[in-house]
Amino acid sequence: MLDFNNTEIAFSAKSKGELNNAYMLYTVMKYPWIVKFGKWASNIAIKIHFPLNWIVKPTLYKQFVGGETLEECRKIVDHLSRSKVKSTMDFSAEGEQTPAGILATFEETLRSIDNAKGNPNIAYSVFKPSTITRDEVLAKASEKREEMSVDELREFREFRERFMALCRRAYDNDVRILVDAEDYCFQDAIDELTDEAMREFNKARPIVFATLQMYRHDRLPYLQRILDDSIEKNYFPGIKFVRGAYMEEERKRAAEMGYPDPICKDKQATDDNFDAGVAFVMDHIDRMELFMGTHNETSNYKLAKLIDEKGIDRGDDRIYFSQLLGMSDNISYNLAHEGYKVTKYVPYAPVRDVLPYLIRRAEENTSVAGQTGRELRMLQIEMDRRKKKG
Ligand SMILES: Cc1cc2nc3c(=O)[nH]c(=O)nc-3n(C[C@H](O)[C@H](O)[C@H](O)COP(=O)(O)OP(=O)(O)OC[C@H]3O[C@@H](n4cnc5c(N)ncnc54)[C@H](O)[C@@H]3O)c2cc1C
Repeated sequence: MLDFNNTEIAFSAKSKGELNNAYMLYTVMKYPWIVKFGKWASNIAIKIHFPLNWIVKPTLYKQFVGGETLEECRKIVDHLSRSKVKSTMDFSAEGEQTPAGILATFEETLRSIDNAKGNPNIAYSVFKPSTITRDEVLAKASEKREEMSVDELREFREFRERFMALCRRAYDNDVRILVDAEDYCFQDAIDELTDEAMREFNKARPIVFATLQMYRHDRLPYLQRILDDSIEKNYFPGIKFVRGAYMEEERKRAAEMGYPDPICKDKQATDDNFDAGVAFVMDHIDRMELFMGTHNETSNYKLAKLIDEKGIDRGDDRIYFSQLLGMSDNISYNLAHEGYKVTKYVPYAPVRDVLPYLIRRAEENTSVAGQTGRELRMLQIEMDRRKKKG
């Protein structure tokens, strides 16, 4: 029976030292002022080129990142696969705005798609569109295209070429690719290109996956539009659901700029929207594929129940559950143990490049109600269980 409280299964792959390290980290992240101070200090350290590896690598990095390179992550991928958890390698270098940096990120993402080819331990490839162009170009292309200069239009064309090249490489390698969702001000341009890529590359099966942030109240109509379009143009959509990672910034920006808040009015409304989206794709599973990225236990129980109620095989490759490396192992390992398809996002990048991702994880664990408490409780139960066992 599926039970996310089974800590023996949840932490079967973790040594005593790893449990202690995780416990210490989550204890520190409980305090918002420490996370705030850490963010401030790391921003300064980056500016003055102060070395950070010695403090970040044995702590946050060790918990949430697979390694600096694909090769370094191989150990973790094998480790996860022994518990029937697949990996989704996520090159997580963010904030790079120079042409050389953007090109390097693009090329590394191509390598990650090649690395996934024919690899039974890798479930998907993934990319974050803002990492292959400049923020300003993406924001203008989404919100003020008519004001773009000739140079910006050229940069946007180059972005489109890179975006399509990643999707084409995934198609050529027969590897599914998730297009991560981002800030509201970038998302229109990302949606437009994702729709285009799905039409081009999903003719035989879903290769390109759109990400829908269900904290946005306009995503169910968008989902319906994707389905209608796929029927009319004859392709198979891939849909990744998340709740959305940028709520505070989105509300603030909407208030400052005087446009309607794009986010659901409260948590319950987001949860209802999320459930409705997942149920919609499950009702159209013969046409669409589903990737559900969440640490919410209720959402995971609900989807598992829905799969069983519909009589769908738990190992059906069209439906994946997903959590981030270092978080909610009680969900991932117990789902995999019960035969459901599970993949962990495995971020990788050098310490300095992955810092924005790590800070987001630390902030999320401080702000997402109950997440840190849940992780600490699970770790404590497992440490006590092992002590008793001797
Ligand atoms: C595998 C994976 C991939 C991901 N990829 C992306 C991605 O591409 N883009 C992205 O933006 N995020 C992504 N995320 C992060 C995700 O969007 C959430 O921020 C994170 O998972 C927390 O939500 P939850 O469903 O796990 O947990 P929960 O704790 O159930 O939900 C917390 C979330 O609910 C929403 N929420 C909280 N309070 C309110 C409120 N008052 N009103 C309205 N809504 C509220 C917010 O979205 C908040 O993050 C990903 C997460 C995972 C696990």
